[in-house]
Amino acid sequence: MQRRRTGRPRTRMKITGIEITHHRLPLDPPFHASWDSQPRVSFDATLVRVTTDEGLTGIGSGDTMSGFAGHERFFIGEDPMAIERHYRILSNIQFHYGRCWPLDLALWDLAGKITGQPVWKLLGGLSNKVAAYASSGTLRNPGQLAEAAEAYLAAGFKALKIRFHRGDWRADIKALEAVRARVGTRLELMVDCNQGWRMSWDAYAPWSLKDAVPVARELERLGVYWMEEPLHRSDREGMRRLREMVDVRIAGGEMTRELYEFRDLIRDGCLDVLQPDAALVGGITGLRRIAAMAQENNLVFTPHTWTNGMGVTANCHLTAGLADAPFIEFPYDPPEWSLPRRDFMMRQPLEVGPDGMITLSDTPGLGYEPDEDMLARTRIG
Ligand SMILES: [Mg+2]
Repeated sequence: MQRRRTGRPRTRMKITGIEITHHRLPLDPPFHASWDSQPRVSFDATLVRVTTDEGLTGIGSGDTMSGFAGHERFFIGEDPMAIERHYRILSNIQFHYGRCWPLDLALWDLAGKITGQPVWKLLGGLSNKVAAYASSGTLRNPGQLAEAAEAYLAAGFKALKIRFHRGDWRADIKALEAVRARVGTRLELMVDCNQGWRMSWDAYAPWSLKDAVPVARELERLGVYWMEEPLHRSDREGMRRLREMVDVRIAGGEMTRELYEFRDLIRDGCLDVLQPDAALVGGITGLRRIAAMAQENNLVFTPHTWTNGMGVTANCHLTAGLADAPFIEFPYDPPEWSLPRRDFMMRQPLEVGPDGMITLSDTPGLGYEPDEDMLARTRIG
């Protein structure tokens, strides 16, 4: 009979490398995103790979990793499982340089591969499923938008987010009315006003509280589930007052840069729906704190996910694993924003089932595989 060897400490695994690659997918025809005044003719993705001395690799994506160069040495030689330690270093890098949170996603992918568990289970294992809402990205005319809503319903979606950016909010309401008239209550509808969002070249002013109130009243009339970013992200008093004046839920926080701001937004009663994105702010490690804070305050935690397929997947693990979110954002507006575009870096796109759910597998880590051929063809750095 073979004796089990016990009491012999296993050598600690070490991070041996961090590789960052940049990729560009040409978009022909271009994508006219509602929040971007310039048509998008290409779609960039950056991949982060963390390697270990035992041959495992974790992969993350979703932001550009600007400002990371030169900081590899703070991770190499460290235990990949020391995720809270790595989070603190990434927070410090953000303080001085840029948002490098895809590295946190790569570390969670790696932790899953080390332990043989999917990330949703490592985070708490609440569920492997989360309902998707279709997050549209273009501005269609009322008739076309109503047609698109029917197509989302046929594909299984239970909810749809509509963009408001036609220049006159009354025109936006016309589009929303056309959808409601077509689908009745078969779809929950959300509206994104994008007043907290600006491209680098935008110089126009956001709505004030008095601008937002009549819009909010129309959304109430049309039974909208949440009103997203009705005011500039800095206008906390406006958000607090709007939230008291109307019944429609107020959502925001997709680019709120410091996690302590969520503590303050919650304390000040500014939001019903918290939308940080693990690929852009705080990583999975930081946002699991925000998910817990949301639950303790009876608020909805449902991440923004408009990066790429790997970013969407990471946010799905976070949300399914420990948050009771009613829906998670699924960026999808075919043909302009299709799965082959959004998920070009993955061998299999992340899909929504006919039941409107995203179902995560038991594959260790985040469960995606890079499409190496595509990544080689699209590499720019
Ligand atoms: Mg948004």
